[in-house]
Amino acid sequence: MNKRQTKVAIIGAGPAGCAAAIQLKRAGIDPILFEKNKIGGLALNANLIENYLGIEQGISGLEFGEKMEEQVLSLVVDIIFEKVEKITIEQDKIVLTTKETTCLCDFLIVATGSISKPLGVKGESEAEKREQLFYEPIFVPETKITNSKIAIIGGSDAAFDYALNFAQRENEIIIIHRTEKFKCLPLLYYRVSNLGSIELQYPKKVKEVLFSEENKLNLLLDDDSILTVDFALVAIGREPNNMLLKDIPEELMESKVFTIGDLVNDRYRQISIAAGEGLHCAMKIIELIENNE
Ligand SMILES: Cc1cc2nc3c(=O)[nH]c(=O)nc-3n(C[C@H](O)[C@H](O)[C@H](O)COP(=O)(O)OP(=O)(O)OC[C@H]3O[C@@H](n4cnc5c(N)ncnc54)[C@H](O)[C@@H]3O)c2cc1C
Repeated sequence: MNKRQTKVAIIGAGPAGCAAAIQLKRAGIDPILFEKNKIGGLALNANLIENYLGIEQGISGLEFGEKMEEQVLSLVVDIIFEKVEKITIEQDKIVLTTKETTCLCDFLIVATGSISKPLGVKGESEAEKREQLFYEPIFVPETKITNSKIAIIGGSDAAFDYALNFAQRENEIIIIHRTEKFKCLPLLYYRVSNLGSIELQYPKKVKEVLFSEENKLNLLLDDDSILTVDFALVAIGREPNNMLLKDIPEELMESKVFTIGDLVNDRYRQISIAAGEGLHCAMKIIELIENNE
């Protein structure tokens, strides 16, 4: 087991965690940043980020992630690409444990974002295991991102963003939504409708996920029709990724352990908000450290 120690540890290298790491580093504090996947977080899935100040023409999520990565790495932020499995408290230290590392810290920033809500239907987990059902585009294998028939389940910004993203790559897209009302930005609805090639099926609900012999996915819908696709992308909402917080004593929250970004922002999940909170939180911790010295 690797043993590490730091004043400040951060879990999650999305916009919130990265902004915090950059600000701490600028103040001469060397945080350790834990990331289970890639620098960029959920933003890597965005088709086009158009509301980030200073980037007038917009930027794709992947490009935005690359820029974040360059900036974080150029500041030589100490990053451990491992999943934090648990947080415990030992005397006056906070202890993070991954499969290979234990890390002791005085302050902890938890910026673990959100997780996708599951459909909750039979066959869903099996389809995920077979790589025929995904919750985020970045996990779709390279071999499937073109020339596929794709069902996108959901009616929110994310569902429409995914549809526009995959429609650019010679795929056949069907959006399935359970009500008459779509919850996405009118701008995204307009773009999808304007494209003309994306089919909208509503109000329709997926009842069960079945498998065909030709390695296709059969979605059984609530009108008892079957939609056959290569894979499905589920975007029916997200919830806080807060599993790690369950054992942290209440008195440490906001004095030693800070939660920021999509993890705590309910409907207000945006890059600038998450990054702003990262900055704010880092500045508070810098003040606490300076006052203790
Ligand atoms: C399709 C789509 C389009 C979007 N478009 C826009 C847009 O145009 N403009 C905008 O402002 N926002 C957009 N967003 C929202 C934006 O992506 C989020 O608000 C932002 O990424 C939140 O940042 P965060 O750092 O709080 O969380 P996240 O970006 O979710 O980062 C959390 C990170 O924590 C890591 N993590 C989680 N658990 C652990 C663990 N146990 N150990 C180690 N690492 C862990 C994850 O791997 C992840 O990298 C979009 C989102 C989606 C899905």
